[in-house]
Amino acid sequence: MTSWVPGADASLFGLDNLPYGVFSRDGGEPRVGVRIGDFVMDASAVAAYGGDPRDGPHLAAAWDHPSLNAFLALGRPAWDTARDWLVEVLGNEVHAERTAPHLHRVAEVSLHLPFQVADYVDFYCSLQHATNVGRMFRPDGDALTPNWRHLPIGYHGRAGTVVVSGTDVRRPTGQGRPGSDGGPPAFGPSRRLDIEAELGFVVGTPSTQGTSVSTGAYADHVFGVTPLNDWSARDIQAWEYVPLGPFLGKSFATSISPWVTPLAALDAARVPLPGQDPEPLPYLGVDGPAGYDIDVQIVLNGEVVSRPPYAAMYWSPAQMLAHLTINGASLRTGDLYASGTISGDEREQRGSFLELSWGGTQPFGSEGRTFLEDGDEVVLRATAAGVLGGRIALGEVAGKILPAG
Ligand code: CA
Repeated sequence: MTSWVPGADASLFGLDNLPYGVFSRDGGEPRVGVRIGDFVMDASAVAAYGGDPRDGPHLAAAWDHPSLNAFLALGRPAWDTARDWLVEVLGNEVHAERTAPHLHRVAEVSLHLPFQVADYVDFYCSLQHATNVGRMFRPDGDALTPNWRHLPIGYHGRAGTVVVSGTDVRRPTGQGRPGSDGGPPAFGPSRRLDIEAELGFVVGTPSTQGTSVSTGAYADHVFGVTPLNDWSARDIQAWEYVPLGPFLGKSFATSISPWVTPLAALDAARVPLPGQDPEPLPYLGVDGPAGYDIDVQIVLNGEVVSRPPYAAMYWSPAQMLAHLTINGASLRTGDLYASGTISGDEREQRGSFLELSWGGTQPFGSEGRTFLEDGDEVVLRATAAGVLGGRIALGEVAGKILPAG
């Protein structure tokens, strides 16, 4: 299965990928686009031709919006119809003549936040990450808290400060721990500014308050995946987080890719979880390959400093979703839930600077970095096996640190 779009088959954005985003050009209205090779296809403009291929007019209305939310709300049958249609339009050369005018070079358009974020939740699903953090912060106790192997731990984040890749991040100011002599808390720009390499899962189909969503209904509700950087001010976090969890140390910014990769594009990347012991409660049970083999890279100022493996994650996205709703909390179109920092067994697989520098004591990379400095740029990349036998890329997420205001 090949595409008539020049260069698409040899890229990581071929017919087996087809992520969605929102773009504008020449100051025009933002609208839904689909990535193919180095191009973005104006989805509603092509669908508006109507007739064959299938269901074009129906989808055109949902795509003529400045966010993905209207399309996300249509649910799994429409998402699958759309994917079949896109493969036909971009794969069958009979559609080339009328479609080509609606392809625009990605480098020549503006990319926007792809969906309006409803609620944002962040989990803590990596055994290696939780163990590393536990060892650093509780050296005399158990690395894992007693609940960790029984539920995917999470907290509610701040939806309104989720930003698209390329948005600069201003160094946050806040309180930190008092000095060892007691006295007032420290106050000023964060000196331990960090990243967390994660994947974010995007909810399309809502649920009703008072009901729960089973692990088996995951693909009915979740549309797709986006790489996510959970910027974290460790000094602010360390002073504020007991007893209610992360707050201002996280809420200043969370970056996502402009591209949301449909779950269908990741079918060949599905793998079994590494193993759960003890077996979780029945509502968290999963059948078959519930994990994903996705290779992540952390790039600091152009240098790859870590390669976190998503396949190592202890809890699956279906389990996160089931846990998120087991109390009857409802889902909304545009909900975003993140995996938590992805860390593997090796040092060069750790997903945060906190772990890479072991609490700031072991500088890493050619620049000898411990935490982020002003002007640093971090890019998260991710790739996985595609359904046609090659590789696909998830969209990058980049951000640069500005000095405190
Ligand atoms: Ca996180």
